[in-house]
Amino acid sequence: MENLKALQSIDTKLKDLNDLLGDLPSKVDELNQQEDLIKSTLEGNKERLKEIAVESHKREVRIAEINIKVNRLKDQLFLVTNNKQYDALMVEIDHLKDQRSTFENESLSLMEEKETLTESVETMDSELGTLSSDLTVRREKLESAISDSADEKSSLEEKRIEKVDGIDFNTVSIYNRVCEARNGLAVVSLSGNGCGGCGAHVPMQKVTEIRANIVIHRCDVCGRFLYSENNSVN
Ligand SMILES: [Zn+2]
Repeated sequence: MENLKALQSIDTKLKDLNDLLGDLPSKVDELNQQEDLIKSTLEGNKERLKEIAVESHKREVRIAEINIKVNRLKDQLFLVTNNKQYDALMVEIDHLKDQRSTFENESLSLMEEKETLTESVETMDSELGTLSSDLTVRREKLESAISDSADEKSSLEEKRIEKVDGIDFNTVSIYNRVCEARNGLAVVSLSGNGCGGCGAHVPMQKVTEIRANIVIHRCDVCGRFLYSENNSVN
């Protein structure tokens, strides 16, 4: 029975390790994806800032051109000889002023977008710096955990082979079968007069024998091996 308990304890540790190992690589992946997402957003924002600079410059040039034209037309106003010419010039000036105000509005919203983006780029830049160093530390921890677990796993597997050698073949094959069927738990302690695995009632005669540790019994319902925490003949 002691050998079976030891075997169960080794197998439980192995199961925990496998669960952990199964989880770690996906956690590392998750962190990498998080970093990639921030990087690509940041690059996108920086690209947009470059575009804004080009677009703003285009509008400044157009506004300057319009100002020159307007001034030229205003000078011509003094030279006109009749109302018709005067009105025609005024229409042209108004039209240019409308164009100018459209460009000015566009310039203004570009400036606003630039301000917001610049702020967010600065914040993200510093966040990325913090995150990157944090990620490096976490990745290293995870990677060393993976390699530690692999070492622990092979040492547990060696111990398992030793334990299995100390138990008769028939019992080991029952143990393996129950483990398979019962989610890795084949050896449980009594819980009062019940099975610690499934809760089924264990007959008094068996309980007494299990407590006395003279016969190895299994639960009639779930098939698990049963032992008693308080081994005593009393
Ligand atoms: Zn049971």
